[in-house]
Amino acid sequence: MKEVIKKLLSLVGLYHPLQTSYYLTSVFLYSLYIKWKYSSKKGDHLICNICQSSYSSFVPKYPKKNDTQALAQNHVIAGFGENIICPNCMSTARERLVVAMLKKYFDVGNKKVLLLSPEKKVFNFLKTKSDVTTGDLHPGFYRHIDYEVSKIDLLSLPFADAIFDIFIGNHILEHIPDDRTAMREVYRVLKNGGKVIMQVPFSESLSITIEQPSINSPSIQSKLFGQSDHVRIYALSDYILRLEETGFDVNLIAYSELSDYYINAIQTGEHFILISKPFKA
Ligand SMILES: [Zn+2]
Repeated sequence: MKEVIKKLLSLVGLYHPLQTSYYLTSVFLYSLYIKWKYSSKKGDHLICNICQSSYSSFVPKYPKKNDTQALAQNHVIAGFGENIICPNCMSTARERLVVAMLKKYFDVGNKKVLLLSPEKKVFNFLKTKSDVTTGDLHPGFYRHIDYEVSKIDLLSLPFADAIFDIFIGNHILEHIPDDRTAMREVYRVLKNGGKVIMQVPFSESLSITIEQPSINSPSIQSKLFGQSDHVRIYALSDYILRLEETGFDVNLIAYSELSDYYINAIQTGEHFILISKPFKA
């Protein structure tokens, strides 16, 4: 029934505006509650690198019940656990990691950036420094982050070759059946030497990626991949191999090397995958 209502609302163009209003209202009320709840937990144990607020702990986030088994049994690093959401600005661990890595490894000043499925804190960090183009396959949901967001399909990017300095598509590829075509498109639109952020949920206990791109059943996807709209769980080594086969250089910055950022409550166990298009001789 829920899916039928969703389809009908989508047909008349109301699904994403209503979803956005509902989402924003829920987030606003939840953020008020969280600020009140954590007002007694101010301290310097953890410091948000987005809003600079400090608390003795951040807000935990746990997976939905149906998603738990696949994530646990494959030891997937997927953005869940303790200290995920900043009680003050509601930034997530994955946003804080991206912003920290942009500051450390990327020169974003005046660069041409393509940012898909734009996350609010990442967009806000970039918008005054870079020339940012935002997009998503379903842009309506993202209009509250950037009103200019365009409909963009990662499998067929509407851009000429080699025009962007930086591409960011954080936690997107696990939703896309043909991820190799998506990787080739990112490679195509990047300038030589361009840099990429495409973090994905990954498992280090798997040696082979679990995937069945043809499956279109939210309940089976939850059971197999740990989220109802994912089409795979990447084995970390295989994810890196797919990027390298596309032509990218990949530099894995292990979680153990990110200890300067533990105070910013980045996701425990999440390595940063620094991807770049080689300079040609
Ligand atoms: Zn914050």
